[in-house]
Amino acid sequence: MKGPARKRAASSRSKTAGSRGKKGALRIDLLTLFPGIFDSAFEHSLLAKASARGLLEIRAHDLREEGEGRHRVADDAPYGGGDGMVMLAGPVVRSIEKLRGRGSRVVLLTPAGALLTQARARALATQRHLIIVCGRYGGVDERVAASVDEEISVGDYVLGGGEPAAIVLVDAVARLVPGVVGNAESTAADSFEDGLLECPQFTRPESFRGWKVPEVLLSGDHGKVARWRRKESLRRTLLRRPDLIARARLSDEDRVLLAEVRREEGAIAGEANASGENDRGGRGSARRE
Ligand code: SAM
Repeated sequence: MKGPARKRAASSRSKTAGSRGKKGALRIDLLTLFPGIFDSAFEHSLLAKASARGLLEIRAHDLREEGEGRHRVADDAPYGGGDGMVMLAGPVVRSIEKLRGRGSRVVLLTPAGALLTQARARALATQRHLIIVCGRYGGVDERVAASVDEEISVGDYVLGGGEPAAIVLVDAVARLVPGVVGNAESTAADSFEDGLLECPQFTRPESFRGWKVPEVLLSGDHGKVARWRRKESLRRTLLRRPDLIARARLSDEDRVLLAEVRREEGAIAGEANASGENDRGGRGSARRE
């Protein structure tokens, strides 16, 4: 998103607030003190193609346009003292109000928000219009909370600003908008879609530095390939994210596969202990194929 395009977008914003261009399209307005950060963030690959096809419309707006007074002030020192500055409620709330239309959903990015998950991204991808507020400095005045629909965190760490978090959020949501990802790159088998991590993937060459592609993937037997993929998805999730396994909805067949994985991993752990090797890591399971 180049400067002039950004300016044009900002000046035409109230006309189209809450609207949905092409049927099924998602409009995203980003509120930020640093709109330049988004200049090329969405101009590549899938998102660029989706915008060109009218499935996405992403605009960045400078919060300083609603800043206080001649100097367009957007932050001030915190009440009660302390280091750093806090973003004023006024510019943020006025910017939201200018853009909000019927069907708009307003998201504040904050480390105190609900963790971003695939399920949350999928829910946001069904919206017509997202307004995403990016904080800076020490954060935003708490009273902005009354003007937002939800608060989202992209992880348990602190970023310097909401802009990188917004790029993560937009990317995760946009690829779930129908039509953005084609059949060839379908999102259905992605990690987290069914509560598990995706199985390991391989492409050419068949052997890379002594590590061979699992035979079953070369067999042409679709049934066996599907079973292997499901089993390795379960194995990877068990080894790397046992918390997900505990919550996943598993079929009877999954339970059979998981029991096999547990037996195999138990045997491997036993062998490793016997040989004094104690940390094989999750990756070892893929190499063993
Ligand atoms: N003092 C705040 C705190 O401890 O919670 C952190 C402020 S942070 C330096 C500035 C802005 O970055 C936040 O207002 C928020 O918009 C954004 N930010 C930082 N970490 C984030 C995260 N994990 N998820 C979402 N937004 C984040």
